[in-house]
Amino acid sequence: MLRIGLTGGIGSGKSTVATLLVEHGAVLVDADVLAREVVAPGTPGLAAVVEAFGDGVLGLDGALDRPALAAVVFADPQQRARLDSLVHPLVRARAAELVAAAPPDAVVVQDVPLLVETGQAGSYDLVVVVQASLPVRLSRLEQRGMTEADARARIAGQATDEERAAVADVLLHNDGTREELAAQVEAFWRTRVAPADR
Ligand code: ADP
Repeated sequence: MLRIGLTGGIGSGKSTVATLLVEHGAVLVDADVLAREVVAPGTPGLAAVVEAFGDGVLGLDGALDRPALAAVVFADPQQRARLDSLVHPLVRARAAELVAAAPPDAVVVQDVPLLVETGQAGSYDLVVVVQASLPVRLSRLEQRGMTEADARARIAGQATDEERAAVADVLLHNDGTREELAAQVEAFWRTRVAPADR
């Protein structure tokens, strides 16, 4: 098994790279997907979040009311840390289960937006970092429907490009076209993944 940690700032193109790696045959474990799964209706994770933050974060349908929860935690770093301390261990445990269930010769890619912020670089055989310049990221996030102020606030809350580059085994540059990105992923797969002895 080869374990790849994939990260990058919001809007850098991380999800796009994850999709390209899956096309090459990787098994994807997506932290954002798991973060939703562990607080789905009926889970112990949701019960813990409701116990910590009150019934106000529960929608009428019994699912987590994400905007209500976001309003609580984005305004208050302590509440944010409290939420993270509930959800992150559940995400890590579920990710570990999925990695353990992958075939022994699999290339497992874990898409972890906060890999650098949460000090997880040492958990992978290879860390792949996707980078794009700030104006490019802002314009792509705006095309995705995010306001510029929201995009800037999220970027400011994450690690810097330098911090991510410092832990990268491989840097992918995504200021160009999708085809240019795909070519870099193909070269990475051919030179660093395919020859690996697993
Ligand atoms: P992240 O997962 O890092 O937030 P995404 O992969 O979702 O980033 O990319 C952000 C947005 O930019 C998406 O809408 C995606 O389709 C688009 N995008 C990514 N790479 C390119 C590219 N090279 N050219 C044009 N659009 C791109």
